[in-house]
Amino acid sequence: MLNKTKFEKVLSRVINKNSARCSKCKRMFTQPYHTFGGLDAEGKVHNVALCCRDYIVDMNHYGVYTTFPVNTAEGERQAKELLDSHPKDASRY
Ligand SMILES: [Zn+2]
Repeated sequence: MLNKTKFEKVLSRVINKNSARCSKCKRMFTQPYHTFGGLDAEGKVHNVALCCRDYIVDMNHYGVYTTFPVNTAEGERQAKELLDSHPKDASRY
């Protein structure tokens, strides 16, 4: 099991590699999405959208994908809306 710091390091690597797609099914994000970061059954770190939510057996991170750059007013507004409506699954903890 990865510790939190290590997990976040690997997750950011996964996201930086291609932030605009689901790392499991490789589907491109074409609209704003809620994202989920965690480990699959094989212990691989993934950043996925709802499409592959069920592959994540150890959920550690809830994020968003915005279609506007995050450092703009639109991006921030969109990110906040997405975070506020994020369908987190507390039962996984
Ligand atoms: Zn997917």
